[in-house]
Amino acid sequence: KKLGWAIVGLGKFATEEIMPNFKDCQHSRLVALVSGSPDKAKKLAQEYGLQEKNIYSYQNFDSIKDNPEVDVVYIILPNSMHAEYTIRAAQAGKHVLCEKPMATSVEDCQKMIDASKKAGKQLMIAYRCQYEPFNLNAIERIRKGELGKIRFITSDHGRLVKPTEDKADTWRVQKKLAGGGSLMDIGIYSLNAARYFTGEEPVEVTAQISSDPNDPRFKEVEDNVAFTLRFPSGVLASCTSSYSYETVKRGRIFGDKGWLDLDPLSDYDKHNMKIGKQDGKEEPQLKEGNQFAAEMDHLSECIMQNKTPRTPGEEGLRDVRYIMAIYESARKGKAIKV
Ligand code: NAD
Repeated sequence: KKLGWAIVGLGKFATEEIMPNFKDCQHSRLVALVSGSPDKAKKLAQEYGLQEKNIYSYQNFDSIKDNPEVDVVYIILPNSMHAEYTIRAAQAGKHVLCEKPMATSVEDCQKMIDASKKAGKQLMIAYRCQYEPFNLNAIERIRKGELGKIRFITSDHGRLVKPTEDKADTWRVQKKLAGGGSLMDIGIYSLNAARYFTGEEPVEVTAQISSDPNDPRFKEVEDNVAFTLRFPSGVLASCTSSYSYETVKRGRIFGDKGWLDLDPLSDYDKHNMKIGKQDGKEEPQLKEGNQFAAEMDHLSECIMQNKTPRTPGEEGLRDVRYIMAIYESARKGKAIKV
């Protein structure tokens, strides 16, 4: 059985990564579009064989409640709009998959969770790496003890933000829409990975932020962030995020029996794993999977089986809470207990 999905926001990620990957889904099919641009929606509906009656605008979106073909609404809008559209979707009686970061404040995250609970509907946050085979394999190796006792993690996420060249970057440098800079957008991958690799919640964060005050891109949002998470077992995770270094999306786990590199850790494809131990290095040849289809099907299956998804709203809220603590630590110049 396939559940019907609606996409809200037909931007770069929705059109280039999500919509084309429904083809590999076994339990999810695209049935509706929600867009502010009727022409774009009509063209895409034709391309994907969707009925014109299943195209919604932001204004008439709430009437999606009367459309039994739509089971799940996938929110792919700028960060600060996630809360409003998740809540409206829940009130329309729909399950929701919402992009990362869940929202731009802890309060909004809580309101989203409450709205979904009240409606008796599922809310999942789109942490695609938690559905990606290389990351899942790394977690399995760590849990089995292959790397011994984990002592340290490093993870870096950076890319060049180009607000004047790329429309998808224009809102990313506006605080009101993005909520923050590189940390909210991509540093969140390092943060989330440190948590799923350790399987622990941090107890303390420390951070420094630096942005070139003469660079017009960083008038409202931060550029470079260096943050450290301290976990109860003693593991330290030292992470960076940036909007001004050439693309890096990597992570390394250091254990007392070996280390494991994922470089990239969080790309759309072409993942790579290396493991180093006292007796040498290996490069396990894992099969690349479709993380987007796996993620969407996971939610569809959870809905059909009435199970809580692996990355529910509470998971998104935790990261937003840690992100706020990272900002606070950088602002106050001291460690923050979380
Ligand atoms: P984008 O700008 O390409 O898409 C955003 C869409 O929202 C556009 O279609 C735009 O028209 C629409 N929109 C509606 N109101 C808007 C407003 N007031 N201002 C600007 N746009 C408005 O951006 P994107 O890169 O597709 O990112 C969208 C969301 O997806 C973000 O939350 C981002 O964090 C997330 N994302 C996730 C991944 C991932 O790998 N999981 C990758 C990229 C983006």
